[in-house]
Amino acid sequence: MKIAVLSRNPKLYSTMRLVEAAEARGHEVRVLDVLRCYMNITSHNPSIHYRGEDLTGFDAVIPRIGASVTFYGTAVLRQFEMMNVFPLNESVAISRSRDKLRSVQLLARKGIGLPVTGFAKNPDDIEDLIAQVGGAPLVIKLLEGTQGIGVVLAETHNAAESVIQAFMGLKANIMVQEFIKEAEGSDIRCFVVGDKVVAAMKRQAIAGEFRSNLHRGGSASLIRLTPEERSTAVRAAKIMGLNVCGVDLLRSNHGPVIMEVNSSPGLKGIEQASGKDIAEIIIKFIENRIAAQETAKDKTLTRTRGKG
Ligand code: ADP
Repeated sequence: MKIAVLSRNPKLYSTMRLVEAAEARGHEVRVLDVLRCYMNITSHNPSIHYRGEDLTGFDAVIPRIGASVTFYGTAVLRQFEMMNVFPLNESVAISRSRDKLRSVQLLARKGIGLPVTGFAKNPDDIEDLIAQVGGAPLVIKLLEGTQGIGVVLAETHNAAESVIQAFMGLKANIMVQEFIKEAEGSDIRCFVVGDKVVAAMKRQAIAGEFRSNLHRGGSASLIRLTPEERSTAVRAAKIMGLNVCGVDLLRSNHGPVIMEVNSSPGLKGIEQASGKDIAEIIIKFIENRIAAQETAKDKTLTRTRGKG
């Protein structure tokens, strides 16, 4: 197979591991800087160009699109889809998962466990908003934040009120959430490939911090999931429409609650914590999906020929 990896930096651990795993299985791989891909979107024969070259012949594309380039990155990915290249994750699913509010609404509609979450625009509604999520302490989240930046714990009613007022004054979009105190600064990253959790790790925040992101100094360790956690993660991935993702959840008094579904989960932490070759699992998944597509195509051809 010929595989494209859309990544801004070929030296990133995840990108290197995917290239390594694909090559080890005999595939041809190219890392493409998504911001250097350009295209003629009106052409009858959709194409993508790269530093003057016409990109052709790819069977699959692995998007590793950073949050800061979601708009352009998903447009490039869509073009690959128009060229019938199999995307590991579809552009529409990536866009969906990048919007924290939209994700929470979609998951809630399907009955997935979530922290009680509220959203409001007008400062006159702050009191009610705080009451709705059960009062302070509560968590305030910037919708555009990643890696724990823009996630604030307001411990008192006054702090909550003034932080929400400040964000609203700055015209920032925020979500207000029940604080899951019993998680004690830890969350669980479930790495989903297809319809399975292939590895899971617990991330623990450093002392005095409630955000467990590894980028915020959190540490990772192996964990055994309950069947409920496993099925919640797989269902969340399916609802978002992602083949490969990192589902983050917290252990709350009312069962597992989802924090986020990440469409470009890093491989380093999870491979180190689990000792598993996640990159290889991903490449094998692509091989199986493409083989299944080929079989489906062959069947249709045989049927049409039979009729002819
Ligand atoms: P980001 O997308 O920036 O990582 P998250 O929503 O995943 O933001 O929050 C970052 C971390 O903060 C989580 O992994 C979790 O440890 C902690 N956290 C977030 N929301 C809550 C909450 N409602 N209750 C308890 N801890 C939370």
